[in-house]
Amino acid sequence: MPSEFEIIRRYFSRPARSAVLGVGDDAALLAPAVGCELAVSTDLLLEGRHFAVRAAPRALGHKALAVNLSDMAAMGATPRWATLALALPAADAPWLDAFAEGFYALAARYGVDLVGGDTTRGPLTLCVTIFGEVPAGQALLRSGARPGDDVWVSGELGGAAFALEHPENAAAANRLHEPEPRVALGERLRGLASAAIDVSDGFAQDLGHILERSGVGAEVRYAELPKFPIRDAALERRCVLAGGDDYELAFTAPVAARAGIEALAGPIGVAVTRVGAIEAGPARLRLLDAQGHDLDVAPGFDHFA
Ligand code: ADP
Ligand code: MG
Repeated sequence: MPSEFEIIRRYFSRPARSAVLGVGDDAALLAPAVGCELAVSTDLLLEGRHFAVRAAPRALGHKALAVNLSDMAAMGATPRWATLALALPAADAPWLDAFAEGFYALAARYGVDLVGGDTTRGPLTLCVTIFGEVPAGQALLRSGARPGDDVWVSGELGGAAFALEHPENAAAANRLHEPEPRVALGERLRGLASAAIDVSDGFAQDLGHILERSGVGAEVRYAELPKFPIRDAALERRCVLAGGDDYELAFTAPVAARAGIEALAGPIGVAVTRVGAIEAGPARLRLLDAQGHDLDVAPGFDHFA
């Protein structure tokens, strides 16, 4: 069985092109570009809680990084470096091969270098920390939404949650296991969007975070929400509003930015849909049906509920 150091050397020591110093010393050395702030975010994934027991390792490698890239997208930051802390029940070579493959394939697509981490034996646990760059003062915060702003959503909502109940649906399963972080969209929303968040715990709850941090309300028309196709209306509503793991961006922007935002969809290949408006008042999401009546907003995912 390979030792901890062999695991690091064999699976997690690919050269870091854009770091001053990568894996192998007591710390990595990173040099952010002049005029940029560092955006830093961590996500912890536990077997049996965030992913299924015996989940496919290649998809896990992808997802562990994807959820962090999604946080960079939501900040309007360009992801640059990552660290990976791993607890593994055993040094399983085929598992490690596939996991590293999934991780590095996504990292390569976004020019992200794995520059360090920690490896230990224990119940399967994946913790990635991502470091990104954003021009000083230009990050997309949750707190910037203002009355009159439009509310927008990228891609489609509900697919990942639908896959939990219908794993045989390949398109939905792909959304759940190998989400595509909206990095290019996030970067281009700098200077256009007033606030942004990635949809990881359900649209209603995540938009709610923008409302709370911005001190505003919102009115959203359910019919306008871009939806993964789901036939059962009740299930659709649950997946679209409260389903987590879609990793789309929900964002707000002044009306004057409409044309600029619509023009992004083509070049980046991701739909952006205007779904409602920010309004003055308490931090409440009013969801309207086609007749303009209030719809109940189901709560999203809460790890402690
Ligand atoms: P230390 O004892 O100083 O924590 P380690 O022996 O744990 O150092 O790690 C040696 C080197 O390997 C360090 O540069 C560390 O960042 C890196 N490393 C350890 N585990 C991983 C991993 N899973 N992925 C990437 N780099 C790792
Ligand atoms: Mg260590």
